[in-house]
Amino acid sequence: MDSTHDPKLKSWVESANDPAGDFPIQNLPFGIFRNKGGKERPRGGVAIGDQILDLAAVGLNTGPTLNVLAAAGRPTWKALRKLLSDVLSEPKNRKKFSKYLVPMKKAELFLPVSIGDYTDFYTGIYHAQNAGKMFRPDNPLLPNYHWVPIGYHGRASSVVVSGAPVVRPSGQTKAADAPAPVFGPSKRLDFELEVGFVIGPGNALGKPVPIAKAQDQIFGLTLFNDWSARDIQAWEYQPLGPFLGKSFASTLSPWIVTMEALEPFHCAAFPRSGDQPAPLPYLLDKTDQKGGNFDIQLEVHLRTRKLPRPHRLSRSNFRHSYWTPAQIVAHQASNGCNLRPGDLLGSGTISGPTPDALGSMLELTQGGKNPVALPNGEARAFLEDGDEVILRGRCAREGYAPIGFGDCAGVIKPAR
Ligand code: MN
Repeated sequence: MDSTHDPKLKSWVESANDPAGDFPIQNLPFGIFRNKGGKERPRGGVAIGDQILDLAAVGLNTGPTLNVLAAAGRPTWKALRKLLSDVLSEPKNRKKFSKYLVPMKKAELFLPVSIGDYTDFYTGIYHAQNAGKMFRPDNPLLPNYHWVPIGYHGRASSVVVSGAPVVRPSGQTKAADAPAPVFGPSKRLDFELEVGFVIGPGNALGKPVPIAKAQDQIFGLTLFNDWSARDIQAWEYQPLGPFLGKSFASTLSPWIVTMEALEPFHCAAFPRSGDQPAPLPYLLDKTDQKGGNFDIQLEVHLRTRKLPRPHRLSRSNFRHSYWTPAQIVAHQASNGCNLRPGDLLGSGTISGPTPDALGSMLELTQGGKNPVALPNGEARAFLEDGDEVILRGRCAREGYAPIGFGDCAGVIKPAR
């Protein structure tokens, strides 16, 4: 860690000094924005308090995505962070740099990177147990779970930025007692509370990423909602896995919280009990086991047409991920598959061990059997049209400035 993590550091952007805010000077996450209603090309910015500093302020013209910055690698990210920290902390810079600030309220945010490929994993062991139990009560975890970070290739074209509407998908569904499937709007629309990893420089085709170097391949983390139509998914998933029940939309939060900003919030890899195997050597690294995971408090809030104040459905933590980000990257590249700058890896639904820490409606309602009661008398088995799901993430540790991720939100629109 360095001077950019100093909890005493303040910014001349006063809103950044509010300890309840997501974007103090110790965070400095990157995104793509333009003035609301503007016609100019979207460009790179850094979130500071309730403002965005145009990266042109430090002579950086990113273009409409952060892929080039992602490709630049750790030394560049570190140098840029130090420069931005100096610019935004030194009071006498206010005069020179104020003109590069845009209030977030007046900005339109875009996907921070152009996503070439997107993969989704299944690293939340409590989610895997809960979901598995519904299908296999005696054997919720399949035998490969403790050995392989399970994943599937998702659809990059339908990843949207927070705030974009999500249209209820139609598809084939089949009730257990029905003789044949029907085609129509999903009746079991769900969210998944996930963390997204944005890939940095990437690796050449045929050249795996060693576990000890894998974290350097990650530019930063985001929040990620892998919307899921459970009825479409249940009928289509065998034998090749998720397809149209997932690919209709996935929502990404607009700010990439860098690995540098997350340095104070490392924690140990998920503790394995005596009957669980040690990871194979290509997934095992001492430093990664000791501190390769992250302590990120995660929350899901629900707002409905009749409930304007968001209600918290769940509170979990990324530390419940069974595999670390480095293990996930090392595994995905272990066959020589090339990762490219801006690729997106989803963690999988991160549920905690308790009933108030479940990361999907599927788990919160036991497959829709026990609807969740909302404070205004409404109830939800799955999501309804007009519902808004908001994911939030925050890191806090004694002796450090807390940082947040910004909202990852989407409203359900009726099927077309
Ligand atoms: Mn998922």
